Amino acid sequence: MESKVEHAVDQLKSGGIRMTPQRYAILHYLMESYSHPTADDIFRALSPQYPSLSVATVYNNLKLFVDAGLVRELTYGDDSSRFDADMSDHYHVTCTSCGTIVDIDHPPVMEVERTAAAMTGFSVLGHRLEIYGLCPTCKGMHS
Ligand code: ZN
Ligand code: MN
Repeated sequence: MESKVEHAVDQLKSGGIRMTPQRYAILHYLMESYSHPTADDIFRALSPQYPSLSVATVYNNLKLFVDAGLVRELTYGDDSSRFDADMSDHYHVTCTSCGTIVDIDHPPVMEVERTAAAMTGFSVLGHRLEIYGLCPTCKGMHS
């Protein structure tokens, strides 16, 4: 995992982006996390170590990582965005009760894109597939 962070740091530096301790901490936290945290989650996790950190700083850095292609932003309507440093093609299952997001490994559903292209004449560039439900913990509380 360390090499993934170092690789990302190199990529940012070659793009002319200066590395600061806070920036590094945010990047490192995200790359070690599998929970798809919000900017707020990251702020709460890091603020004890970095008392001068603000949510705005976290958010601005996340935007910078997204623009650099290191991190993807998952947007869910009005809810605040979640961030994922796993750039591989994968889908998410989201708990509608507690907001937990879990990765699932599933081959890309290309038939939908082919059908959409055939039916509309569009040059299809991609798709979003969101799976919703109750996670095992929430399912227990609702049964
Ligand atoms: Zn849940
Ligand atoms: Mn993910």
